[in-house]
Amino acid sequence: MDISQKAKKIIFLMWLLVVPVGICLVYLLSPTKPSDWDHYIYFLILALLTTIFPFFIGGALMVLVQWVNLAIFLKFGILAELIAMQLCMIPIVYHMKLSKETRYKLYYNSFMFFLISIICGAVVLWTGYEIGTLVINDIILYSTIYTVLGIMLNHIFLYFREVFTGLKPKFFTNDFGGDFICLIITLPFGISIYLLEGYVGPIAFILLGVPFLAITLLIRMYSDSEKVNADLNKASEFGHQLAERMTTTEILDMFLKSLSDIFPFDAGYIVDNIDDEFFILRAREDGDKKEFEFAHEDIKYSLAGKVYEKGEPILYNKQTDWTHMKPPFLADDMKSVMCVPIYRNKKIEGVLVLAAREKFAFETYQLKIVHLLCSYFAVSLEKARYVREAVEKSEVCELTKINNYRYLDKHLKVEMERLTSGFYKTVSLIMMDIDKFKGVNDTYGHHAGNIILQEFAKIIKEEIGPNGTVARYGGEEFVILLPNYSKLQAKNIAEQLRRKIEQTPFIVPFDLGEIAREEIVFITASIGVSTAPEDSDEGMTLLRNADRALYIGAKQAGRNRVAEYVK
Ligand code: GH3
Ligand code: MG
Ligand code: MG
Repeated sequence: MDISQKAKKIIFLMWLLVVPVGICLVYLLSPTKPSDWDHYIYFLILALLTTIFPFFIGGALMVLVQWVNLAIFLKFGILAELIAMQLCMIPIVYHMKLSKETRYKLYYNSFMFFLISIICGAVVLWTGYEIGTLVINDIILYSTIYTVLGIMLNHIFLYFREVFTGLKPKFFTNDFGGDFICLIITLPFGISIYLLEGYVGPIAFILLGVPFLAITLLIRMYSDSEKVNADLNKASEFGHQLAERMTTTEILDMFLKSLSDIFPFDAGYIVDNIDDEFFILRAREDGDKKEFEFAHEDIKYSLAGKVYEKGEPILYNKQTDWTHMKPPFLADDMKSVMCVPIYRNKKIEGVLVLAAREKFAFETYQLKIVHLLCSYFAVSLEKARYVREAVEKSEVCELTKINNYRYLDKHLKVEMERLTSGFYKTVSLIMMDIDKFKGVNDTYGHHAGNIILQEFAKIIKEEIGPNGTVARYGGEEFVILLPNYSKLQAKNIAEQLRRKIEQTPFIVPFDLGEIAREEIVFITASIGVSTAPEDSDEGMTLLRNADRALYIGAKQAGRNRVAEYVK
């Protein structure tokens, strides 16, 4: 959530008025001055070194700089600690990956730690601490007050920052627990380096500094592997969810959305390549699905085109590294970008582009996970294609290549729902049955009968065109669904078809006799018509009504005629 520009300006002004002037004041009032600070530089170097390996606890950035700063305070007082803390802010802020939008946190943190340094130092000095003392009881007591107070103040300040910037504040956050765990480490180590340095001089930095840095490095490695583990768990869950999706649309919609739950990107695009042209198949910007009609030749020359060509995923965390090959659909303020090829059957089918406004938003291990997820994605799409093809195949009649009963049954329900919802006014149904077809089979053979059925299907399909749906209902029975056709209109169409069939010469092979030859066969059909909602508003009843009209009104009345359903 963004905070207002006004709040950001106020934070900057607070910093400007308090910190630089405050440092000057502390300098003037401080009982110790830099000229007395023997070995201060070693402490400072150690403090800065501890900022190199920050780690994450529950998503919060942790830097164990406090132990050195405690020792600095104990030895040199408020001013020395204040300067050290402000200097450490520089690498810490770098690790926080602040963008222009979140830069206010730098000023707020600098302001906050300035006040914390002063308040904690002042309280401890006021309650009786003597700078540079080697009385162990005093050191332990005042160090504990100093650090506990520091953590409390830190959280109070962060709480007020959230209140002030209009974000939802929570006092006991994960950071709070994390800070107290850090306290258990930093307090004894801080006292130890202070005492050891006092007794043995700068060698203390080697004796304690090196093992401490090694520990922070180990914690960092552990926290990194925890992060990778957490992301891998999410990725595997995502893989399972993807595998459950059966249609291409579902998979495309889900992919970018679920990916955004794992990786914080501001914009994501699935770029498809069809016949050497690039299209945006799906887009997601700032958490919302975006309709993107985008095909641009420049995509080919952008990093999306390059990844498509080379087949290798790439990651850039600074805009200057990739701005010369910016894809045209990406906004100008994107800083980090990752681009991953999508393979299907060892062939690159498209490219996934993820971008973020933050610098260094993506890590190399994340690129690998996204690469892996792109393979899941491609496999899921492939599976969806097989499912679609299998369904399509199962809904087509092998002989006549028109839709079969399975399709008719499904489609009839859909059409009747459209009628009920008011999308159609009427739906008419025509049922046709070839007359005396058994006789045709008996005379010319089943092969000839099959050819007639194929030809018959072709004729009615051509006659109906896009106005309706033609399906083979059974043996030599066919059904036509005509949405928005009145009964009269449907009867007219039926009559037209009847005449067309009657007049069409069907040429069939005749191989039942001595010599194989071709024969011309004429057939006729009987037809029944029913219309919804006047005859029924239920699909199966409509079908039965047309069937009744066919047998009673047409077949029984002498065949080769059209009959409508009468109640
Ligand atoms: P009616 O005028 O009463 O409809 O007489 P009919 O002979 O057409 O009706 P009947 O139901 O007795 O026979 C239907 C015939 O259709 C029986 C069967 O041999 C034939 N038939 C059904 N399916 C196929 C097919 O796929 N290929 C061929 N060649 N014939 C089929
Ligand atoms: Mg028949
Ligand atoms: Mg029949």
